[in-house]
Amino acid sequence: MKKQKNWEEKKSTAFYYSFKPRELKYFLFGKKRCPRCGGKLTRSKGSFTTKGALPNTINTSSDFNFIDTTKVKYYYYIYTCQECQSQYSLEELAI
Ligand SMILES: [Zn+2]
Repeated sequence: MKKQKNWEEKKSTAFYYSFKPRELKYFLFGKKRCPRCGGKLTRSKGSFTTKGALPNTINTSSDFNFIDTTKVKYYYYIYTCQECQSQYSLEELAI
């Protein structure tokens, strides 16, 4: 049997930030107010890792076939309302 290094212990082989155009616009210029109560939103960064790239994220079949997607770390942003503690993803806010 081939000895395989534990995936969990492996360093991430690729990183990915997902921004749709309107999400980037909100991220940079949007008013960070809670849609429910109008409270101030604070931003925090989250991440998760996957085995291989998620569909429609990193294109491994053509231009980017030099990227090793064995372990991809995805970053995302969460906004939390300081008043009512509601949490929103960038996708939910950028509408
Ligand atoms: Zn709120």
